[in-house]
Amino acid sequence: MKTGSFQWMKSLNKSTILNMIRLHGPISRAEIAKITKLTPPTVTNIVNELLDDHLVVESDLGTSTGGRKPIMLEVNNRHFSVIGIYIRERGIDVAVANLDGTINHKLELEISEHPTKEEFLKELTNAVSLALEKSKADEKPTLGVGIGIQGQVNPLKGEAKWVPNLKLENIPIKTHLESRFHIPIEVDHDVRAIALAENWFGQGRDLNNFICVKVGTRIGAGIMLNQELYYGAHYSAGEIEHTPIDLDGPACSCGKRGCLAAFVGAPGIVRRAKQALADGESSTLHQSVQKQSGADLTSKDVYTAAMEGDVLAIRLLGEAGQYLGMEITNLIHVLDPDCVILHGGVSRAEPLQEAVHAYLLAHVSSQVSIVQTKLGKVAPVMGAFTLALKKIFDPHIDEIDHSTLRKGEQW
Ligand SMILES: [Zn+2]
Repeated sequence: MKTGSFQWMKSLNKSTILNMIRLHGPISRAEIAKITKLTPPTVTNIVNELLDDHLVVESDLGTSTGGRKPIMLEVNNRHFSVIGIYIRERGIDVAVANLDGTINHKLELEISEHPTKEEFLKELTNAVSLALEKSKADEKPTLGVGIGIQGQVNPLKGEAKWVPNLKLENIPIKTHLESRFHIPIEVDHDVRAIALAENWFGQGRDLNNFICVKVGTRIGAGIMLNQELYYGAHYSAGEIEHTPIDLDGPACSCGKRGCLAAFVGAPGIVRRAKQALADGESSTLHQSVQKQSGADLTSKDVYTAAMEGDVLAIRLLGEAGQYLGMEITNLIHVLDPDCVILHGGVSRAEPLQEAVHAYLLAHVSSQVSIVQTKLGKVAPVMGAFTLALKKIFDPHIDEIDHSTLRKGEQW
């Protein structure tokens, strides 16, 4: 089988059957025919192709309803690998996984400070090379690489239009890496990728409509509507950082006032802590600033102080939680999801839950659940390789995207 293209998966029936085996395996050929309404010979032919491709294996015999016991089929999870790459604030996380999402290898690599576009692509190329070596050593051919990155991303072109933390624009990630490695490369916004991981492996698994909110240095939302990621007209849906939340709020890095980022993101929390210290508020943070002999206060210092009972730090995190709660309330009222899945430190702040339930309309509040992710710190790399998995098992997304692009495509 050639892994260099997805010609082998071009048939919609083939990917439908493969996905059915993923979701319902172990499953018999007869059951597949029944559910898909494809004829038994068609199912048999396609299953034979999937067996030849090593994507599917025959497993134990199923229970018989009279007559011969049917042979069951399941995905050959351990034969191949997929690679997930998450471009962090100042580094690259890499994971090599089986087709069922089990991670076999994890790597953490650095990104040089203020890289040029060429330097960044070189570092990314190196990350893919290292991951491919791991797959090769395991004798598991790589079916695809998924990359999650911040900022504005065109997933069809696999291009990062604008990456704020790297201050880079128009990076042709997909074309660059595919010309080098000849395997399919998928690129998407990091939080959208996380929402996909929740949909495949996490608490969004059986939900049609949910929102993932990630809070860290930056704040973003990944929106799943009717079982599909929602992109918006310019791939910017879910960029909630600079939504205005307080007319009289503090200045934000974007030049406006009272954005969510000014209260909730790590830089916003640090800026507010420094302001409070300058205003003479008493706090153990004064000592942490002195101890670090000139080094900058970080959001981690604020978290630590809050854990140790510092009144100022507790207030700042409480307010951050409250503002995030207001934002989440707004999202819930606009999108009516089943669930909101939270990622990141501030999202654990207790006032968040209180704020959401205080502002939500009562009947809405009883319908929506707000939960912490259970995927842990690997959620972003899981999201990244799930982009590759989706391409293998559920490639029809392209058709849906193209139809929206007729109106929205601008670059
Ligand atoms: Zn702003």
